[in-house]
Amino acid sequence: MTQTLTTPTSLALARDLAAATAAATYPRSDLPWAGAYGRAKRLAREAGIPVPGGCPTKPKAAALCAAIEAHLSKAGRAPAPAPSAALVGARQPILVSRCLLGVACRYHGRPTAEHSRIVRMLATGRYDTIDVCPEVDAGLPVPRPPTRADADGRLWCGGQDVTAAFVRGGKLAVDAARASGATKAYLVRGSPSCDRDHGIAARMLRAVGVKVIRV
Ligand code: SF4
Repeated sequence: MTQTLTTPTSLALARDLAAATAAATYPRSDLPWAGAYGRAKRLAREAGIPVPGGCPTKPKAAALCAAIEAHLSKAGRAPAPAPSAALVGARQPILVSRCLLGVACRYHGRPTAEHSRIVRMLATGRYDTIDVCPEVDAGLPVPRPPTRADADGRLWCGGQDVTAAFVRGGKLAVDAARASGATKAYLVRGSPSCDRDHGIAARMLRAVGVKVIRV
């Protein structure tokens, strides 16, 4: 049940933290923005605001920021400038496979090197990067056994049918594209989620008009 708003200062702080998280330049292999997002979630929860579950992502931070704004404006307070302006700014939003950014989210759990093409792109400052890992965002662990497709196209990971989880991860990637306005996605070749032609998430993104670039 939503509680009466009793902590406007805390909520303003939560809103600022969520907005800063949503606008953050991707910090490579460390995730200080994830801590800010965690603090924003705790403060929002205290006021009874539903918070997104799962791994921290910038689109989720933007969604949380919007929920806080709605809560504040329902309570009769003037909303702050829209966080989406901070999220998008003058930069082009793009989706990027999280493992290309040096995050150890691949099935083997080993740290991955940042991809030089992506690093060069980010160095230009022209892009707002929304990192996605459809498998981890759908709840699959790190490490996890490699995933294989059977003759019927179902996906198996360690003896479990994970097809539904892969579809869920694809939907989350589509949500991230819609929330950020990204029309391009730089995704890993050869992945059962991210490969432009065979990956479930990549195919779902292409189905909604996102251009997938194989990296
Ligand atoms: S699902 Fe995509 S982002 Fe996640 S580890 Fe596999 S290739 Fe990388």
